[in-house]
Amino acid sequence: MERYLAGAYDTADTEALITAQKAYNQEIVSRLESKIRELESSNAELRRLDKIKEDFIQLTAHELRTPLTLVYGYSRLLQDSPIVRQLRESSPEIQAFVQGLVEAIERMSNVINEILTVSRIATGRIELAIGPTDLSILAQEIVQGFAEVSQQRNLLISFNASQWPSHIQGDSDLVRLALYNVIGNAIKYTPDGGVINLICKIGVTNVLITVQDTGIGINKDDQSRIFDRFYTASDTALHSTSKTAFRGGGLGLGLAICRGIIEAHGGRIWVESDGRDEEHLPGSTFYIDLPIQARITSPRRMAPAGG
Ligand code: ADP
Repeated sequence: MERYLAGAYDTADTEALITAQKAYNQEIVSRLESKIRELESSNAELRRLDKIKEDFIQLTAHELRTPLTLVYGYSRLLQDSPIVRQLRESSPEIQAFVQGLVEAIERMSNVINEILTVSRIATGRIELAIGPTDLSILAQEIVQGFAEVSQQRNLLISFNASQWPSHIQGDSDLVRLALYNVIGNAIKYTPDGGVINLICKIGVTNVLITVQDTGIGINKDDQSRIFDRFYTASDTALHSTSKTAFRGGGLGLGLAICRGIIEAHGGRIWVESDGRDEEHLPGSTFYIDLPIQARITSPRRMAPAGG
C-alpha cells in the first residue's frame, strides 16, 4: 500500500489503464467520424435542395417573363394604335387606364428581372461583360432619371460629373444597376426635403463612390444583413408600392444584387449609419469601392434565401 501511494503502480493496472484509454480514444474518433459523415451528407442534401430551389426560381421567373414580354408588347401596340390614341386624347380616364396598365406591366417585369439577376448572382451564374465604362455619364444618366421624382419630393441630389472617371473597365449595365439601386434607396429612405450627396474619389487602382443621404438611417445590427437576399430592415406593412416614394417598397433584393455585382468586379460595398431614427434622421452613407480595372472574381455564394 505504501508503495502504491508513493506512485509505484502495478504494471498490470497501468496496462489496463492504457488499453481503456486507447479504446476510449478510438470510440471518440469513430463517433466524430460518423458525425462528420452525417454533416457531410446533410450538407450535400442542403446543397441539392438549394439548387432545386434556385432552378425553380429561375425557371418560374423565365416562364413568367416570356408571356409578360408579349403582354408588354401588346400593351405598347395598343397604346400607340390610332383608335386608342384617339380615345386617349378624348378621354382622360382611358388615358389613365392605359398608362396604369403599361406602368404595372413595367413594374412586374422589373420584379421578375430582379429575381432572375439575384438568382444568377446567388448561384455564381453571372457573367460580366467587361468593357470601357464611363462612370461619369452613367451616374449623370441615373441622376437625370431621378430628376422628376426629386423635384416632386423636393430632394436635392448633389452631384458633380467632373469628379467621376470616364474610363474604367467594368460591366456598364451591371455597374449602372448597382448604382441605380443604391441611389434609388437613398431616395426611398429619405423623407421629402432631404439631400442626397454623390461623391466619387479616384485613387490609383480604385474609385470610391459615396452615396450619402439625410434619411431614416439603419440600425447597427441591420447594417451587414441588408445585403442579404430578402432582408428588409423596414416594416414591410408600411411599404408603398412605388420605387421612389418615401419608404417605397421592394423585395429586399436590391442591395443583394449590388453586393453580388460589386464583388464580382473585385470590389466592396458597405454602409455606415448612426442608427435608425425616423424623427432625427441620422442618414446613411453607402460606400462602393470599385477597381478601375475589374478583377473578376467568382462572386461569393449567397446564403440561402431567408437564411
Ligand atoms: P428594398 O427593396 O427593401 O429596398 P434593398 O435590398 O434595396 O431592398 O434594401 C434592404 C433594406 O435596407 C431596405 O428594406 C431598407 O430597410 C434598408 N435600406 C437600404 N438603403 C437604405 C437607406 N439609404 N436608408 C435607410 N435604409 C436603407
